[in-house]
Amino acid sequence: MKVLKFGGTSVQDAEAMQRVAAIVANTPPPVVVVLSATAGTTNDLLKMVELASRGNMEEASALKKEMEKRHLEIIKKLGLEKDRPLKNDITRLISTLEILLIGIFYLREATPRVRDAVAAHGELLSTHIFAAYFRRQHSRSQWFDVREVMITDNCFGQAQPLRERLQQRVEEKLRPLLEQGITVVTQGFIGRTGNGLVTTLGRGGSDYTAALLGNILNADSIEIWTDVSGIMTVDPRLVEAARTQRELSFKEAAELAYFGAKVLHPSTIQPAMEKRIPVVVKNTLQPNDPGTTIVHQGTRPGEVKAIAFRQNVTMLTVESTRMLMAYGFLERIFEVFARHRISVDLISTSEITVSLTLDNGVRLEPVLQELGEFSRVEVKTGMSIISLVGEDIKESPAFLARVFTTLKNFPIEMISFGASNVNLSLVTPDAGLKEAVVELHRAFFEN
Ligand code: ASP
Ligand code: MG
Repeated sequence: MKVLKFGGTSVQDAEAMQRVAAIVANTPPPVVVVLSATAGTTNDLLKMVELASRGNMEEASALKKEMEKRHLEIIKKLGLEKDRPLKNDITRLISTLEILLIGIFYLREATPRVRDAVAAHGELLSTHIFAAYFRRQHSRSQWFDVREVMITDNCFGQAQPLRERLQQRVEEKLRPLLEQGITVVTQGFIGRTGNGLVTTLGRGGSDYTAALLGNILNADSIEIWTDVSGIMTVDPRLVEAARTQRELSFKEAAELAYFGAKVLHPSTIQPAMEKRIPVVVKNTLQPNDPGTTIVHQGTRPGEVKAIAFRQNVTMLTVESTRMLMAYGFLERIFEVFARHRISVDLISTSEITVSLTLDNGVRLEPVLQELGEFSRVEVKTGMSIISLVGEDIKESPAFLARVFTTLKNFPIEMISFGASNVNLSLVTPDAGLKEAVVELHRAFFEN
């Protein structure tokens, strides 16, 4: 049994949906198909909420019309215009959307709860359309409301599924369909509280839905279908020679996802890892390309698998001005960050200094002032973090030598190595980033 998840661009228009149908049809049943909203739709829905809450009903309605038109166009191109039940579903969804927007307009209020109720329409629309289309060719398939099983807490906008209830309901409501060999088409991203209120799992959350369902159903694999052929050795926009990495371990993939590789939502890994279910990232436009397979145990430990980077990072170097009373220094520093709710990324320490990195855009002044009471602080903006990711790289003696030989002409401001066995991170000025990444890629992947 497989769970196949298709992202927004994979269902963006009629042709895309036809490609998805072919991929699903080629997968031996039982299959669970998890879909995102069509590309751009979640953004549009959230924008409608903002517009309506600011009193701009006109633009909100115009955007809604546009979105509706886009979906009707798909229905038409798929030859589903005369499908009565589909038409009813779409009409109902569009009118509840309208009612919600009018409510928001009158209240001039957009709470996370309202936002979720609106945002959920994207996945409901896309799945109704696809399910109707697929059913034409494969009668043993069915639309399924994921909210029947995806019971979450009431943290709207970022809801956490309640695993036990999810499990119980999947066994009760979803498993029996699959056991009958029915292909189930359902929504990613959305859920419902115990009281029946609609929730969402956070942006990009469809991957997470797929992983959770795969976990409970003990799927043979979880396939994440997108518009690129898997996870690449480096961002191809920066390095032309970037290529797909065929295999990663869960730890490596998690590291890359946390670092910001857009292909996979970071929370996807955990449910898959728990049951050691392979996650395969594939390209809807090139279904025969094997993509990237993420498995429990990587086959080439000690090798660098990918290079990730993050720009626009601020680096602070904090030096204790009271060397004699050195204990508690770290605690004092991190207490300041914690109180200002600033997350610190990399850290590197010596006896009396601590270097650390922060994302750009945090308000630094109050923090600097407080740190200044017991330390000297140096601030460097416009920095980049480069991370080399690979399981057990620490174990490979030649690894460090190669990194530093490659970067001998680049200023390295900070290094973080050893805390994690899957990652070496370096901080270097933005100005030299591209060149440094190109050189590293050449050294580790192009020989
Ligand atoms: N449609 C949702 C979003 O755009 C969820 C997803 O695509 O994963 O965030
Ligand atoms: Mg996504």
